[in-house]
Amino acid sequence: MSSPKCRLCGSDLAQTFVDLGMSPPCESYVEADGLDRGETFYPLHVRVCSTCLLVQLPAYLAGEDIFSHYAYFSSYSDSWVAHAKRYVQSAVVRLGLDQNSFVVEVASNDGYLLQHVRNLGIRCLGIEPAANIAEVARASGIDTVSEFLGEATGTAVADKHGRADLVVANNVFAHVPDIVDFARGLRALLKDDGTLTIEIPHLLRLIEDRLYDTIYHEHYSYLSLHTTQRVLAEAGLSVVDVEELPTHGGSLRTWSMPVGLDIEPSERVAKVLEDERAAGLDTVEGHSGFAEVVSAARDDLVEFLISARREGRSVVGYGAPGKGNTLLNHAGVREDLLAYTVDRSTFKQGMYLPGTHIPIHAPEKLAETRPDYILVLPWNLREEISAQLAYTREWGAKLVVPLPKLEVF
Ligand SMILES: [Zn+2]
Repeated sequence: MSSPKCRLCGSDLAQTFVDLGMSPPCESYVEADGLDRGETFYPLHVRVCSTCLLVQLPAYLAGEDIFSHYAYFSSYSDSWVAHAKRYVQSAVVRLGLDQNSFVVEVASNDGYLLQHVRNLGIRCLGIEPAANIAEVARASGIDTVSEFLGEATGTAVADKHGRADLVVANNVFAHVPDIVDFARGLRALLKDDGTLTIEIPHLLRLIEDRLYDTIYHEHYSYLSLHTTQRVLAEAGLSVVDVEELPTHGGSLRTWSMPVGLDIEPSERVAKVLEDERAAGLDTVEGHSGFAEVVSAARDDLVEFLISARREGRSVVGYGAPGKGNTLLNHAGVREDLLAYTVDRSTFKQGMYLPGTHIPIHAPEKLAETRPDYILVLPWNLREEISAQLAYTREWGAKLVVPLPKLEVF
């Protein structure tokens, strides 16, 4: 069997980072009439390239299969919309954007971020591959083209709409199979003195906080600042600053500009690179040991669920995010250990989680059944969800987060 090739440098990918076994695509929610049919499972086998160190999942699933009818609508999370608003406000001040500026967001979803740009009277354009979601954005007045970004489409969009002062690519960079062509597309959208910001989950946080539930088929690359710099350099972009953010368990927001502007990278860039070196992320060997850590975290979750069941206590879930499906499939959890989950998204209500077939109900189900424990699957939103679920304390329910460390509170 030939090994897959690195998407950045083309080397053979012979080194395992972690192998989570087989799982269905994490956003392929199952309808009631699909429960008695088969489901396709794909490997979740993450490798690290021994040449360029890019940690990556081979493209077992093509982006077109996943994103053309993606179920995720960004506006369903209050804290995510607030995060986008703070970002827009800070970028506008930092870059001195005004009514003459132009902002492009890639993977703009339903316009959750660009609405804040538009509200400041700044021209903006979204690029969103999922046609149904792009339509939602257009209906709310955000000009949006429905395309997959690459060098060719980036050039075509720039020719038609002009090049941007600011290009935003939040939580999409890790989700494109051809990351180099995508980076070149970002460069094509940008003015020669423009700024690109990218938000990516930080590999260092994934390793140190055991965030293996952020591994799923749509998440192709697991980036450090070190490897992000390498990818962007392939597109003629240079990282000038970086921020460490708490989102998704720990993310990086990089600020990049075209090479040749002769801008000295900030001290924060040197600091993050040094943190990565200290953790061993500058060597292949430094990436070993994660598989053992993942097994231990899985054991903690399964042990909790089995103990609760033996004590006669009911456990249900909150949320139906993609990450929950990695967690539950890897742990082999079924309806007998987690009776159901609830989600605010009406698109998911009445459906079943992929692989595990745990039913998804509306949040009102919690008050009807009064469970003893509520496992918060989007644990990264724990503060927000804890506030939303304050009413469940009335009957003594306790919340549980599975990661970074299993905790009952
Ligand atoms: Zn490589």
